Amino acid sequence: MFESFVHDVPGTRVVFAPGAIESAKREADHLGATRIMLISGGPESQYAERVKQALGSAFVSQFTDVVMHVPKNVAATAIAQAQVDDIDLLIALGGGSSTGMAKAIALETGLPILAIPTTYAGSEMTSIWGMTEENRKVTGKDVRVLPKTVIYDPELTLSLPAAISAASGMNALAHLVEGLYAPGISPVSALMAEEGVRALAASLPRVVDDPLSIDARSEALYGAWLAGWTLGTTGMGIHHKICHVLGGAYNLPHAPMHSAVLSYATAFNESDAPVAMAAMRRALGSSSAAAGIWDLATSIGAPTSLAEVGFDPVNIDEAAELIVAGRPTNPRSVTEEAVRELLRAAYEGHRPE
Ligand code: NAD
Repeated sequence: MFESFVHDVPGTRVVFAPGAIESAKREADHLGATRIMLISGGPESQYAERVKQALGSAFVSQFTDVVMHVPKNVAATAIAQAQVDDIDLLIALGGGSSTGMAKAIALETGLPILAIPTTYAGSEMTSIWGMTEENRKVTGKDVRVLPKTVIYDPELTLSLPAAISAASGMNALAHLVEGLYAPGISPVSALMAEEGVRALAASLPRVVDDPLSIDARSEALYGAWLAGWTLGTTGMGIHHKICHVLGGAYNLPHAPMHSAVLSYATAFNESDAPVAMAAMRRALGSSSAAAGIWDLATSIGAPTSLAEVGFDPVNIDEAAELIVAGRPTNPRSVTEEAVRELLRAAYEGHRPE
C-alpha cells in the first residue's frame, strides 16, 4: 500500500568540491557577514589558517575549546565571547563537536552558521542541537541552529585517521538506517537514504585502505551529506536514543559508540521495519541488514561491541531505564527488558544472526 507522507525540508546551501574551503570568503559575503568567529580546535584546526587568510579583516576571533558533547559551561564561555566580539557569523570548522559548539551559540544568540565539516558526523545538515550537563545529554530541534551554508571539501578529510574515519562513517550510516524507518520518512528521503547507505558501503573500505584517495574521500563525504540530510529531515529511533543516553551518562566516544550499537539496534527492528530492511539489504548487498552492517564495520576495523568503547556492563540496568524513560519513537515497541537484552548483545559483540 502506498504510504501518505509529509516532506518538509528547510533549505541549506551546499557547496561540494575538493578545494572548496577557498570559497569561504565568498560564501560569508553571500551571508552578508563582516565580523566572523571561527569555531575550531584539535588537529582539524590545521585548516583554520586558510580560512582566516581568506576572510581577511572579516575574521574577528577563534574559539578553540571544542569539547565533545558540548558541555554547557564551555558553551557559556563561547556565547559570551561571541557577544563581546559583536559577531555576525559563526564558522564551524571541524567535526560534529565544532558544529555542536556553533549550534549552542546560535541557539542563544540567533547568529547564522556556515559549517565546514571535517568528519562524517552530519550535524551540519540538521537543526538538532545537543548539550551536556551533570552527565545528562539534552537535545532539541530549533531551525535557528541549522547552518545556512555548508562547504564540503573532501580534501579536509584526508587527515582524518583511518580509525576515526571508519567510526565516523558508521555514525553517518546510523542516520541513514534510522531515517529509513523514522516516522518522518518520505519517498524522497527514502531514495536519498538508500543512496547514502550505498555510497558509504562502497567508499568506507576504500577510505580505510587508502586514506589519501580523494575519490574515496569524496564518495564518503557525499554519503555523509546524504546521512546528515536524512537525519535532519526524518527522525530517529531506538539506536540514537541509546547513543544519546550512553554518550551523556557514561561519556562514551560518540562515533565509535554508534558503530558498536548499530547492528544490534538494526537486528532489534529487523522484523518490524520490512521496507527499510529491504532498502538496506539492497544498498549493502547483503541478505541481512543487521549482519551486513556488522560485516561492514568489521571489514573497516570499526567497533562492533560496547566492550571495545569502554562501556561498563554494570550500567546496563540504569541505561535501560534511562533509554525507556526517553520514550523513543521506534518501529518495535521498546521495553526495559528488550533494551537490556539489546545492550547485552551490543556489549558482547557477536555477529547478529
Ligand atoms: P569530533 O568533532 O569530536 O571529531 C572526532 C575527532 O576527530 C576529534 O579528535 C577531532 O579533533 C578529530 N578530527 C576531526 N576532523 C579531523 C580531520 N580532518 N583531521 C584530523 N582529525 C580530525 O567528533 P564527531 O564524531 O565528528 O562529532 C561528534 C559530536 O557531534 C557529538 O557531540 C555528537 O553528539 C554530535 N553530533 C550531532 C549531530 C546533530 O545533528 N546535532 C549529528 C551527529 C553528531
